[in-house]
Amino acid sequence: MSTATQHGVVDQKDSSLKLKRIAAEMRTVLDVRGVVTEHEQLRTYECDGLTGYRVVPGLVVLPETTEQVQAVVRACWREGVPFVARGSGTGLSGGALPVAEGVLIVLTRMRRILEVDLPNQRVIVEPGVINLWVTQKVVPDGYYYAPDPSSQLVCSIGGNVAENSGGAHCLKYGFTTNHVLGLEVVLPDGEIVNLGGKALDTPGYDLVGAFVGSEGTLGIATKITLRIVRKPETVQTLLAAFDSMDEAGGVVSDVIAGGIVPAAVEMMDHLSIQAAEAAVHAGYPLDAGGLLIVELDGPAAEVERQFEFVERACKQHNASMIRIAANDEERVLMWKGRKSAFAAVGRISPDYYVQDGVIPRTALPQVLREIADLGAKSGIRVANVFHAGDGNLHPLVLYDGDVEGEAERAEHVAGEILSVCLRHGGSITGEHGVGEDKKKYMPRMFTTEDLDTMQLLRCAFDPLRLSNPGKVFPTPRLCGEVPGHHRTHPLERAGLAEIF
Ligand SMILES: Cc1cc2nc3c(=O)[nH]c(=O)nc-3n(C[C@H](O)[C@H](O)[C@H](O)COP(=O)(O)OP(=O)(O)OC[C@H]3O[C@@H](n4cnc5c(N)ncnc54)[C@H](O)[C@@H]3O)c2cc1C
Repeated sequence: MSTATQHGVVDQKDSSLKLKRIAAEMRTVLDVRGVVTEHEQLRTYECDGLTGYRVVPGLVVLPETTEQVQAVVRACWREGVPFVARGSGTGLSGGALPVAEGVLIVLTRMRRILEVDLPNQRVIVEPGVINLWVTQKVVPDGYYYAPDPSSQLVCSIGGNVAENSGGAHCLKYGFTTNHVLGLEVVLPDGEIVNLGGKALDTPGYDLVGAFVGSEGTLGIATKITLRIVRKPETVQTLLAAFDSMDEAGGVVSDVIAGGIVPAAVEMMDHLSIQAAEAAVHAGYPLDAGGLLIVELDGPAAEVERQFEFVERACKQHNASMIRIAANDEERVLMWKGRKSAFAAVGRISPDYYVQDGVIPRTALPQVLREIADLGAKSGIRVANVFHAGDGNLHPLVLYDGDVEGEAERAEHVAGEILSVCLRHGGSITGEHGVGEDKKKYMPRMFTTEDLDTMQLLRCAFDPLRLSNPGKVFPTPRLCGEVPGHHRTHPLERAGLAEIF
């Protein structure tokens, strides 16, 4: 039997035979826990953090070494079978969504910290290492790993690399791409290559830069060299409540205009304050219209002077409450509310969609008003949590999937929010990636020529398009197609594939 999928017309009998051959071969390479073929067990891996998309993978393998990753990738290349890498599965754009007729390569058993080189401020890890473990490993020596996604307790460094993940402290310290210096990669044909290294820069094209954020489409990272940084002398954290988001936003503008680059500036609106407080009791005032967390770090004397500035700005913008963390415990609690906000929204809505867009910081008040209008017009509630310093919005679009038509309206609102971001000179994603979810919005941001040019890079790494196929790019193009004006694909002509 043949089926049309986004990857082409697939002969199911043929692909199931290929998967059986790969599974048999993998049983000779991996231990018994490393090969999963039972349908019920395969279902464990059917989605990532974006649970609206689900596909049961044809086969799951859990390698423990680079050589084992190489063996499975080589087998896929030989058989022409697609594969998808998966870290902890916390992605929010469907990036690790499996392919039904493909292999899911789960990297959670590759979780060793291979080297800690303190004099050079480098740490080399396997891809399944959890983000927070890196800091935990080096903090006794006065260092830490700066990129801190809110999911840092569970997400993997491999996933962070693929998504170029950010976090609250990326305003001052930069995203994952600024902290990854070297990669060992298993290319889609099974070749192992080393890109970059411990040095800050290497001659030639920046292939590490190209790989970071490539969402699993260029191969599988099996070793990652990270840069760690010195813990600052002082950290000061302030929580301020305001009647409106405009007032909170005014503080952010004043602080940045005052030449201060805080370690983090996070904002939450009324709805997300309600949700976070109900979930973790961080002491957020329930009547606040907007909440601000500002963290400053650096030499004590500088932080003290800048902190006075921030406090003054909060008062000038009519803060109804200002609380300063007296110790680490209080600071952790202030952050706990913010870092739990996505999950906490489950307290006020049965279903929600985490949107991720970017705008220039100065457009913040106008964009928030337009998002509120979209919500009001459609009858869909939108809670806002965001990294205010770098204009990275996370509107949480709330809906009830059991109410007829509400999920569709929510999806429409979520899509329109991205159009608002683009109209204001922003982007369709800040840190969660394009994945499966947002590929349809890529043409809103890029021309056909732009997308074709991106394909040239992709095809240089993966000419057979086996590595995470069907993600990021809206239109299934074959490597070797001449870039240029779009020609109708035979599958499209046959009504079997859709061009977004
Ligand atoms: C509650 C919550 C809060 C979050 N907060 C943030 C946040 O503050 N900032 C942020 O940026 N993100 C955030 N995220 C999103 C998510 O945690 C990140 O995208 C994270 O980097 C995904 O890591 P993972 O290990 O779960 O990757 P997965 O979801 O397993 O995979 C993500 C992508 O990476 C690819 N991949 C995984 N491992 C490899 C590898 N070794 N080589 C090549 N490709 C690979 C996959 O194919 C997929 O495309 C949040 C998610 C949740 C659920």
